[in-house]
Amino acid sequence: MTAHFPFDNSYVALPPNFFARVAPTPVPAPRLVKLNRPLALHLGLDPARLDSPEGAEILAGNAMPKDAASIAMAYAGHQFGNFVPQLGDGRAILLGEVIDRDGVRRDIQLKGAGRTPFSRMGDGRAALGPVLREYIVSEAMAALGIPTTRSLAAVLTGETVLRDPIQPGAVLTRVATSHIRVGTFQYFAARGDLDGVRALADHVIARHYPQAAQAESPYLALLESVIARQAELIASWMMVGFIHGVMNTDNCSIAGETIDYGPCAFMDSFDPKTVFSSIDQFGRYAYGNQPPIALWNLTRLAECLVRLLADDDDTGVEIAQNALGGFAERFNAAYLAKLTAKLGLSGRQPDDPQLAQDFLAAMAKGEADFTLAFRRLSDAAAEPSQLGEVRALFADPSAFDEWAPRWRARIAAEPQDGSARRDAMRRVNPAYIPRNHQVEAVIRAAVDRDDFGPFEQLLTVLANPFEEQAEFARYAVPPQPHERVLETFCGT
Ligand code: AMP
Ligand code: MG
Ligand code: MG
Repeated sequence: MTAHFPFDNSYVALPPNFFARVAPTPVPAPRLVKLNRPLALHLGLDPARLDSPEGAEILAGNAMPKDAASIAMAYAGHQFGNFVPQLGDGRAILLGEVIDRDGVRRDIQLKGAGRTPFSRMGDGRAALGPVLREYIVSEAMAALGIPTTRSLAAVLTGETVLRDPIQPGAVLTRVATSHIRVGTFQYFAARGDLDGVRALADHVIARHYPQAAQAESPYLALLESVIARQAELIASWMMVGFIHGVMNTDNCSIAGETIDYGPCAFMDSFDPKTVFSSIDQFGRYAYGNQPPIALWNLTRLAECLVRLLADDDDTGVEIAQNALGGFAERFNAAYLAKLTAKLGLSGRQPDDPQLAQDFLAAMAKGEADFTLAFRRLSDAAAEPSQLGEVRALFADPSAFDEWAPRWRARIAAEPQDGSARRDAMRRVNPAYIPRNHQVEAVIRAAVDRDDFGPFEQLLTVLANPFEEQAEFARYAVPPQPHERVLETFCGT
């Protein structure tokens, strides 16, 4: 009996230059190290069949389920600002699409499944460390309520991969509402293939933005929808201190999910200039640059769509510019709404933006831990004596001392009682995020000692980021100076 995947594939019906048909390259010894059972059930898959030797064969790419698409998708992209006309899935193979329990179409993809026509110099493989990092961080993002690709499974291949240092090889099974990127549009636009751009746009509208089909100008509605999703997404990242690290246009999802977790990390002490990625030499993708970079990426998308936006009165350029002008408004509105909620403000006062900005500035000055500062502030909403616990997070509390009485006066002006405010704040201020030093420790245990216990435990904690978990309190603690991880590597 083979594991049944109820495929309903649509991308393979697009023109043949959209993808390459390719089979995964077999590996010597598949070993399932993690299966996401709730996600499997949600996708209409049988966890018991996946968690079997035969399931491991499929998840490693050694066996193909019936009716699989088995393709590598073509895309281009701007990498650190430089255009590369052909990137594509160099090590990822789309098994196919299924309709999940919510009626949403989802891609199921094997990442690290071997070489494809898009591999260029790469080996088509993935290393265990980055696979576990993506598994942890994507599942943490999902639990935080942030749109993201998901992780269905991780398997060891029984091979090593040549990285520095040599690592066990692994395959991640990734789930996305689609793997279509800004770079997918760029692939066709760069070739002057207007029919390709139109076919892709029509596919995206039908799949992700069906309401755009009813609009007077469906392609404009498409552009505006992607802009709105990205604005909301980046605002959500900013609220948890997430730094993607490689916001190239090929890593920017048309569906507005966080995608392609590489050297990503969460900030500990607050500093908008924070960069973790070892390859981001100039800080292009620093925490505080993420909103303007998202707009830059969306501008590249708009360029691809310009000819479809043209009408009798406009070449399309002005229409595109107007749509792009909406990004700042959308982002600022989402950002302010989320930030004031984190501060426990329910109504809106004219000084609220300043109050919020001043808290961030105080944190930057005092090098306070971003996550803990908001979490402890939640407790102080119910019990003002707890403000001392917030203050203790600031190496230099001078700006915080000036700020705290203003915040207290501001929340006192609202009718909500303290414990209700604390509970509301706790629902938007996580206690647990995947802190870099913990992620690294978990990876070390798995890679160096074949011990997946710490990985499982971290996943358990991060599955409920807003709940106090007394037995796991140590996971809420910022790194000690000697534990700090200042750099993350692609490791690919
Ligand atoms: P990334 O930096 O992971 O977003 O990948 C950028 C491009 O390099 C994409 O086209 C990937 O498919 C490709 N790539 C990354 N790693 C590998 C690898 N080990 N083998 C082949 N292609 C790769
Ligand atoms: Mg990528
Ligand atoms: Mg990648």
